[in-house]
Amino acid sequence: MKITIQIVLENTEQTHDREDPVVEEIFSFERTENSDILAPESLGLTLDEAKTLLAGVQKKLVTEQVGVHLSKKSNCPQCHKAYVQKGRHKISFSTLFGKLKVDSPRFYTCECQREIEMPLNKTKKMPSFSPLAGLLKEHSAPEFTYLQTKWAALMSYGLTSQILKEVLPLDKPISTSVLSKKVKQVALRADSELGEEKPIFIEGCQAEWEALPPPAPPLTVGGDGGYVRGREGKDRRFGNFEVIVGKSIPAPGQGPNKRFGYVNCYDAKPKRRLFDLLKSQGMQFNQQVIFLSDGGDTVRDLQLYLNPQGEHILDWFHITGAFSICKRTTQPA
Ligand SMILES: [Zn+2]
Repeated sequence: MKITIQIVLENTEQTHDREDPVVEEIFSFERTENSDILAPESLGLTLDEAKTLLAGVQKKLVTEQVGVHLSKKSNCPQCHKAYVQKGRHKISFSTLFGKLKVDSPRFYTCECQREIEMPLNKTKKMPSFSPLAGLLKEHSAPEFTYLQTKWAALMSYGLTSQILKEVLPLDKPISTSVLSKKVKQVALRADSELGEEKPIFIEGCQAEWEALPPPAPPLTVGGDGGYVRGREGKDRRFGNFEVIVGKSIPAPGQGPNKRFGYVNCYDAKPKRRLFDLLKSQGMQFNQQVIFLSDGGDTVRDLQLYLNPQGEHILDWFHITGAFSICKRTTQPA
């Protein structure tokens, strides 16, 4: 049996002069059936076939979408004349299903805009622009960046690179330095979207809190700090820095647990980070929140003034741990 997969392109907006629909072959493959028994390894698509199919569809789709966009942006919206082309180059664009090079023309701004753009200069060439370059500034589809950074946050950069190459139709593995750069870019962007840090996040008064809808069952938030040996350049005796990590656990059936973590001497917005996390779990100011800690200053400061119904409980595991160490060290030899 021979299987041929075609794509049908239909121009519903009438932006091309061509006759529709256009039917193009994407991929074909064969299944030899020389026995009555189906082989599990050839039943349905294999991973390689699926990758080839996706890469083929992606290439056609991106080329078509870019073509439609450029056909809409090649004429001046004021006088409707075609723009004069200055040149063209290729833009690389990485998607989940392959890295593509798309044709990107550059046009001169229309002469009808000279009075606005350059009223004092009648001979100088008008400024140029590219209808695609501004749109594809990051050269990567957001979903592809999402997958790279999500997996790189869950495992090593090396493993992320290997797994992405194995499951996606990529020409070559993504380098670990590219992954590291992507993670940093996304982290900086996520941080830039954080609101301002405040010492107190509780707002409103008792009457306002009582008027809120009935709250969900209590949230339980635990946190703890640990010291990591630090170094600066070649100075191995630089000291330590404290890492604080924790988890916010809703009641059963009220949504997933969420985790947080930061470096105490580095993060300028730890309270905002935890407050936003609790809000993302639907925390209301009339809802009970149980904060567990070992009583250490840094963890307790983080948990204070986030919710008026907050209840702060000492984590007995730490106290008993500290007590047993204390007992061992004070016992006579
Ligand atoms: Zn014009």
